[in-house]
Amino acid sequence: MTEEQSKNERHKKAMEKQKAKVDARIEQADTERGVAILLTGNGKGKSSSAFGMVMRALGYGHKVGVVQFIKGAQLSGEELYVKNQCPQVFLYQMGTGFTWNTQDRSGDIREAENTWREAEKLLNDESVDLVILDELTYMIAYKYLDEARILTAIKNRPREQSVVVTGRGGGSALQELVDTVSEVKDIKHAFKAGIKARQGVDY
Ligand code: ATP
Ligand code: MG
Repeated sequence: MTEEQSKNERHKKAMEKQKAKVDARIEQADTERGVAILLTGNGKGKSSSAFGMVMRALGYGHKVGVVQFIKGAQLSGEELYVKNQCPQVFLYQMGTGFTWNTQDRSGDIREAENTWREAEKLLNDESVDLVILDELTYMIAYKYLDEARILTAIKNRPREQSVVVTGRGGGSALQELVDTVSEVKDIKHAFKAGIKARQGVDY
């Protein structure tokens, strides 16, 4: 056997082993229901990942609802796309902008409440397959919304419905409740090197 042949042989054996492991794990996952996902951490990629799942769901003709908390006046590319090209997607934006711009706590709380009501409607609607609650964690962190109310609504949503929450932090109770938590780690970000936020990449 040549060196190349024995390498190929070893690779085949390793792959067979791996396939058996993967197959066994797939076999074990036998529960069929919607999942709750939290995308958190200080790095870039939380909201864009959530919108990736919007595309994924739309690819199967699933019904999608997106509710965005703390949104600036300027729409991001994905929001423009959903708004203009995906009339089948329900999109609601809090639209007050960043708290450091509004500087109006009670106004922000009122808007947060109105926005949460839209989220609750989706979380009560069996026909909706995927609900995105973008930047919701800040509403909990600032105590603009009642944490228990949020957790209850997510917990009691229809069995087949999946929900994705994005934003830094979110608290341990939310982490405990959801099925999947991914933390996007900030290793480096172009902005910190003085590079301007880029259209189509950062917004
Ligand atoms: P994206 O929308 O790009 O997926 P995100 O949702 O993970 O980012 P947010 O905290 O919601 O992050 O902030 C959105 C904007 O802030 C984007 O323009 C993103 O590039 C930028 N941003 C995210 N993380 C960082 C960071 N660690 N340093 C500087 N800018 C950041
Ligand atoms: Mg975001």
